[in-house]
Amino acid sequence: MDTPSQTPGKSQTEGLLPAVRQFTESYIAPKAAEWERDGAVPRRAFEDAAKAGLKGVLVPKDLGGCGLGFTEALEVLETLASANAAFAFALWVHNNATNTVARVGSAFQKDAYLTDMLKGTHIGAFCLTEPEAGSDAAAIATHARRHDDGWILNGTKSWVTNGVQADVLLVFAQTDPGAGVLGIAAFLVPADRPGANRSPAYDLPGAASFGLNDIVFEDCRLSEDDLLLPPGEGFRAAMAGINQARTFVGALCCGMLGSSLETALKYAASRRAFGKSTLAFQGVQLPLADIATDLEAARLLTRHAAEALDRGETAITPAAHAKKFASRAAFDGVSACMQAMGAAGLRDTYPLSRHLVAAKMTHFLDGTTEIQNVVIARALMAQHGIKLE
Ligand SMILES: Cc1cc2nc3c(=O)[nH]c(=O)nc-3n(C[C@H](O)[C@H](O)[C@H](O)COP(=O)(O)OP(=O)(O)OC[C@H]3O[C@@H](n4cnc5c(N)ncnc54)[C@H](O)[C@@H]3O)c2cc1C
Repeated sequence: MDTPSQTPGKSQTEGLLPAVRQFTESYIAPKAAEWERDGAVPRRAFEDAAKAGLKGVLVPKDLGGCGLGFTEALEVLETLASANAAFAFALWVHNNATNTVARVGSAFQKDAYLTDMLKGTHIGAFCLTEPEAGSDAAAIATHARRHDDGWILNGTKSWVTNGVQADVLLVFAQTDPGAGVLGIAAFLVPADRPGANRSPAYDLPGAASFGLNDIVFEDCRLSEDDLLLPPGEGFRAAMAGINQARTFVGALCCGMLGSSLETALKYAASRRAFGKSTLAFQGVQLPLADIATDLEAARLLTRHAAEALDRGETAITPAAHAKKFASRAAFDGVSACMQAMGAAGLRDTYPLSRHLVAAKMTHFLDGTTEIQNVVIARALMAQHGIKLE
């Protein structure tokens, strides 16, 4: 969602980062495999994250959040993702929903949701994608029809992160099918509203912590108080927020890649074959050195995009470069780290198998790799003054 640029506070993360590291190492990392086996993250984890300081990471301090800038927030997300990228993303979606309520919500909506969202007792979700509309988000068919002094919502949202346990749904819906994107509005819908139906969690091996499902709206009645952004502004805000989201996916990838590299290095240093440490073999060392280079490049591209966002720029192309490069580097790099560990890298005592699934998923999150290339190609042509017939 559209988030006005923020002035990066010089030492905003100084107090937060150590707490995030502690939370990641002592809370997320030991529970990640258990959550996967259980098929879900307990609700309490969102509350515990808030208690650890992760409440409204991007929400301004005067509204009760941490008030971080984008560049600072990268470090927080990278740290969380090192242990469990799926939960880090779920927490981020919740944080972004909280930030949206804080920044563009009405007085009624802030009053109704903000305090509990900041505390993590109310979990947020973002509902744009539909079974028949993914990359082509403007083609959404979920329909909000005016009725008396409110709206009636019908349609299905798919791939809803946190959908299995969200309390507040940020829903994009078409209000005037003939109007295209100008008809798309955004609503804040309480998940327990009659007519809002949660489908069971998707069965996605290795990705339970995303909490993904479908949400089906059947004659769900909304009041004017539930309208977050009027027709026309809904789609614009969703697209404006996508460059921030893509930059954060870059950080997610860096977190997975960094932790896989560290795990593989330590494992290979202690594993022995043919009378020596496997890390002594150049066949093991050199791929890890290549991964370190990719990690460095992914971090720089991601930081470059975040710095542009912090300057108040749209960062369309930098975010597309960062997301494309980092997601490819993560998928290839996590796989190569597993290779360096032999079969042990597959075991759930290590994070690599979860990272590999999540790294593949980053190729779809907030726009596919191909869509990043569409964005980059468009920018290339504009830069060189090329207009196709
Ligand atoms: C783990 C996970 C979490 C998600 N969380 C959310 C969420 O919280 N909320 C939400 O709204 N959505 C969420 N999504 C959905 C995500 O945004 C979509 O998956 C994404 O937009 C792509 O849509 P699609 O999967 O339907 O692919 P499609 O649009 O069906 O694309 C299929 C293929 O065609 C390619 N393609 C499509 N158009 C073009 C084009 N113009 N040029 C070249 N190639 C093209 C794509 O790149 C892809 O390879 C999530 C997805 C995942 C995997």
